[in-house]
Amino acid sequence: MDILVVGGGGREHAMIWALAKSPKVDKIYCAPGNAGIAQLAECHPIGVHEFDKLTALAVELKVGLVVIGPDDPLADGIVDAFDDTRIPVFGPRRNAAEIEGSKTFMKDLLHKYNIPTAAYEKFDNYEQAQTYLNAQSIPVVIKADGLAAGKGVTVAYSREEADQALRSIMVDKVFGEAGAKVIIEEFLAGQEMSILAFVDGETVRPMAAAQDHKPVFDNDQGPNTGGMGTYSPLPHIDSSIIEEAVETIIKPTAKAMVSEGRPFQGVLFAGLMISPDGKPKTIEFNARFGDPETQVVLPRLKSDLFDIFWATVHGKLAEIEIDWSDEAAVCVVLASGGYPGPYTKGVRIEGLDEAKDAIVFHAGTARNESGEWVTNGGRILGVVGLGADISEARDQAYAQAELICFEGKHQRSDIAAKALV
Ligand code: AMP
Repeated sequence: MDILVVGGGGREHAMIWALAKSPKVDKIYCAPGNAGIAQLAECHPIGVHEFDKLTALAVELKVGLVVIGPDDPLADGIVDAFDDTRIPVFGPRRNAAEIEGSKTFMKDLLHKYNIPTAAYEKFDNYEQAQTYLNAQSIPVVIKADGLAAGKGVTVAYSREEADQALRSIMVDKVFGEAGAKVIIEEFLAGQEMSILAFVDGETVRPMAAAQDHKPVFDNDQGPNTGGMGTYSPLPHIDSSIIEEAVETIIKPTAKAMVSEGRPFQGVLFAGLMISPDGKPKTIEFNARFGDPETQVVLPRLKSDLFDIFWATVHGKLAEIEIDWSDEAAVCVVLASGGYPGPYTKGVRIEGLDEAKDAIVFHAGTARNESGEWVTNGGRILGVVGLGADISEARDQAYAQAELICFEGKHQRSDIAAKALV
């Protein structure tokens, strides 16, 4: 079967890398893809929001399955846009993707079904929000309702910071319509963790657990990014906590979505906080694979990813085997200097051919007229090391990352360090 993957980052490269191993997959197409993906898939320069062009492409190429990577097109209803084509699409419909696209929807859903999450109030009026905020203790968390490219959340450690965050969302409207409503939320202390699961309505099949590092600098300093590195598994988190999170959060949420007439099909990704007494609470839900979580999860998948996607779109997830390897994986992201602020593109990348002992997923790369690899974004590459444990995988990822050079290259040096303690 031929497949079309929509997206063009490291996550999509990892999905295509895993799909390409399936004997059932003939040709893979990607829109728009990137220069690294082009080594495995035929890339078409169509943006992820060009639904008409994407559906026409899928029909023209006669693909048997479409897979959606990023959050924005899911929230905008890309899966529904394929209805007339009758081609199965891996990913949630618009009404199910709202679990990521609207934090007020997500919080109200969890509240209604008694699923553990931080206490909150929602507002669409600035004065009322400010009055409520004044009565909260510090730290406090302020969230824009809609998608804000990962920047809509402020954990405020002072009153000034909290007031400023609320003002910039509701008065200065820095996130536009995404900030028409806000959530003011109780601060949760503890250890963060992500669980991704394949979901086909009520059946939930958890993936190997992974942990991201959002801030740009070591020791979680500096502004948040799309993610500077990940590792899997999480040896420092008891497996009973992961099981509890699946039983008390992910399964009830999938069931609640069915009860609401919004069955979720695709990858449900829960961001969780584990309190010091070991109780998981929901911070957020995403309606798709995480980036860069996918880059450490899929290399540990022993089963055929195509079989899983196919079973998910056909509501047969309960019927298949999904096996994970015991190996550990660590992903170190190499980013452009200045990211997540302004950065230069078109910088030559050297050493890619030398990093043969890692899996290198491309996020923001291109080829110049001479065919040389150049940078083309903020996050450039995800270098994934594998090993018998986190320590081995981490050493390999960092050793291989050293072999790749470009001017201004920035990476964190403490990815997975917490897992070694
Ligand atoms: P979100 O986009 O909702 O995942 O939030 C981004 C980050 O803000 C999370 O990864 C957490 O580090 C932090 N955060 C969000 N909500 C809370 C909360 N209620 N308590 C503490 N930290 C939070």
